Amino acid sequence: MTTSDLFENNGKFDAFVFMGESNRFYFTRFETSFGAVVVTRDKGVFITDFRYETEAQERVKDLDIVISTYSEFFGKIAEVLQAAGAKTVGYEETMSVGEFGEFKAALKEFKLKPAGDIIAAKRAVKTEEEIGFICTAQQIAERALQKAISRVKAGVTERELMAEINYEMIIGGAEKYSFETIVAFGANTAQPHHHPSDKKLDKDELILVDMGAKYNGYCSDMTRTFCIGDPGEQLERVYDIVKEAQEYAIKYIKAGMTCHEADALAREYIIANGYGDNFGHSFGHGVGIDIHEDPRVGASSQIVLRPNMVITAEPGIYIPGLGGVRIEDMLVVKENGVSDITSYEKKLII
Ligand code: ZN
Ligand code: ZN
Repeated sequence: MTTSDLFENNGKFDAFVFMGESNRFYFTRFETSFGAVVVTRDKGVFITDFRYETEAQERVKDLDIVISTYSEFFGKIAEVLQAAGAKTVGYEETMSVGEFGEFKAALKEFKLKPAGDIIAAKRAVKTEEEIGFICTAQQIAERALQKAISRVKAGVTERELMAEINYEMIIGGAEKYSFETIVAFGANTAQPHHHPSDKKLDKDELILVDMGAKYNGYCSDMTRTFCIGDPGEQLERVYDIVKEAQEYAIKYIKAGMTCHEADALAREYIIANGYGDNFGHSFGHGVGIDIHEDPRVGASSQIVLRPNMVITAEPGIYIPGLGGVRIEDMLVVKENGVSDITSYEKKLII
């Protein structure tokens, strides 16, 4: 991962220290439970402990590697910064209070400034390689859902369907799940983040699945809503409104638009159809190493969409006691539109 662009519009910084797990992965390309990446104007240094020495030497190409014990760790960070002549150092606001105390004490000669937003903004714009990993993760998830859904019958429980989807994702090449797969039936679909239970499926109930696979450290995210019987007139109408709202937004989102404007496209469509109060969450979010990362595509976000951001488009309408519909695709933002990297069909009755 290139590091020089971190300084491009951030001239007041001489160096950055990243200690969060996802940011370590971003620069090193492998998972570690301990370490820091220190980026100065002329190089990057990965400081970790002896457990990761061999893997770091094999896999980390663009960074110098320093092996440290925990007691020397913050001192090693200070040494790298001193050697680079750094004065103003950006840090990530993910440390615990205890860690931050040690960090501040070891780095007291430097001017420390929060810089979590700078790295989040860099990570929000994906490289072609990262987009490729996300697309592969999505293809694994789609094949898994097709297989699991083709076997669904009345009487299956939410937990059983969740287990089948998870099994198919792992067998199909996922390293793990992006997050705990959500499976909801019937009135449970009205809770956007329902935890799968032992509830059995009745033929005419809605089935909502929100799932993602992880591939090479990158997440996918997709939601589909189905029914194997007759969901009734109101939920069929709700399904059409959500699908049309999503399609309308996908047609008009493009780089240069704010996240607020992107959110408003689907939201205004849903409001115009009388369900504004039933769409209680944001339109979408960035996806990458983390399942939720910048940009948050919500009503209060003024972040401007840029080419190669990967965001979700996930409007939903939830009617307590009756059911909810959410449909979620992943989009790559382009100069003049978006590329929808979710190809799973949107069909309510299966
Ligand atoms: Zn999702
Ligand atoms: Zn999502």
